[in-house]
Amino acid sequence: TIPIAGVKGTTTERTFIAVKPDGVQRGLVGEVISRFERRGYKLVGLKLLVPSKALVEQHYGDLKGRPFFNGLVDYMSNGKAPVVGMVWQGKDVIRQGRKLLGATNPLDSEPGTLRADYCTAVGRNCFHGSDSHEAATTEISLWFGEKAVFDWKQALEPWIASDN
Ligand code: UDP
Ligand code: MG
Repeated sequence: TIPIAGVKGTTTERTFIAVKPDGVQRGLVGEVISRFERRGYKLVGLKLLVPSKALVEQHYGDLKGRPFFNGLVDYMSNGKAPVVGMVWQGKDVIRQGRKLLGATNPLDSEPGTLRADYCTAVGRNCFHGSDSHEAATTEISLWFGEKAVFDWKQALEPWIASDN
């Protein structure tokens, strides 16, 4: 069996993508799913939840101590809107997924990216995507776990990513 975040650089690579509470409130869940689907990626995990404070603190552990940290954890976990978590699989999906989302600060997001199309503020940038294979491993384990990820045979796969 393959590791939880797949094998980096292959068609089994996986990333954790989330629509944060502001994105759910804005009605952007379908838009995110559409953009990843039409790009040719395969949805292998999907859930809607209000994450606990502890889960969000772990997820954003590297940002602890930053001035926006407590506000970030509260808005993610206060339950005013849920988070929709997804696991997407396919060739280079970690880096390609970050490109589809756009830069962290919408001011720097390229036109046509999700954040440039829908966001204006870094504190309400609506989406999350793992930034490395290591992060994807940690985040898929944290939000889903091995049993909640479901690989399936996509009939079009050889037509979407092949080396020849
Ligand atoms: N964030 C914020 N203010 C900042 C930087 C980050 O509110 O000055 C929030 C924002 O929601 C961002 C998240 O913290 O998406 C995680 O920051 P990171 O640098 O990891 O950006 P991302 O990986 O989400 O692009
Ligand atoms: Mg990040």
